[in-house]
Amino acid sequence: MGNGAKAAQKRERNAAKAGGAAKSQTKTNQAALNIICATCRQTFLLTTREPALEEHAKNKHSKTMAECFPTYGK
Ligand SMILES: [Zn+2]
Repeated sequence: MGNGAKAAQKRERNAAKAGGAAKSQTKTNQAALNIICATCRQTFLLTTREPALEEHAKNKHSKTMAECFPTYGK
């Protein structure tokens, strides 16, 4: 582990101390990532379009969209 990693940890601690704003930003980001591939658990933005999800299912798993994203549109 070099100095870069240490500096990053320090930055993270400082960010945690700063509190409030950063935390609520994280929450927002998580809420926006709530399409999850049932096969590989990869997360997609809620705004991801159906063709992109279908492409993921086909290219990554050779499955149908319904198999990887059974809850999409429900
Ligand atoms: Zn997947």
